[in-house]
Amino acid sequence: VTLQKVDIRQVVADVLAFQNKEAGYRNIEIKVAISEDVPEFFSDRGKLQQIFINLVNNAFAAMKEGGRLEILCRLSDDGSHIVTKVSDTGCGIPPENIKKIFEPFFTTKSGSGGTGLGLSITYGLVREIGGTIDIESTIDTGTSFTITLPVEYPKQ
Ligand code: ADP
Ligand code: MG
Repeated sequence: VTLQKVDIRQVVADVLAFQNKEAGYRNIEIKVAISEDVPEFFSDRGKLQQIFINLVNNAFAAMKEGGRLEILCRLSDDGSHIVTKVSDTGCGIPPENIKKIFEPFFTTKSGSGGTGLGLSITYGLVREIGGTIDIESTIDTGTSFTITLPVEYPKQ
């Protein structure tokens, strides 16, 4: 883990910079809202970028007919955690798959579509930087991943 002062706004902007063009021709609307009170914090910028790249890639893949990607970020009520929600209006995940999606090599993408490693790597990266990841999903409605990160980097 390489700790630097990180602004989540910059991380999200950097990740989306690679996706904006594709969003245009894929008819995907992107909304980002980060509360003013979300502070800069010490974290690993590279790992954070990888976490968001994986979630955004999956969200795009889930919205074959276009849709809406939302990245919302706020400070927890007690000020101790930065809570970021990445939501899509895609195909959703059936309940029987939800318990498997963080397992390495679990994929529903056939052919060369997926390695099934994105979310298992994401899960590991979130843990490495002291956070947690939760998922909510409804078939044919969409999926949200919530990443909760401590403002104070945990002492090892
Ligand atoms: P891959 O993308 O290579 O299949 P991942 O570990 O990133 O592997 O994701 C595993 C599986 O979880 C995907 O194949 C898909 O079935 C499901 N999944 C992940 N994110 C989403 C999402 N946003 N919407 C719908 N399904 C998803
Ligand atoms: Mg993936």
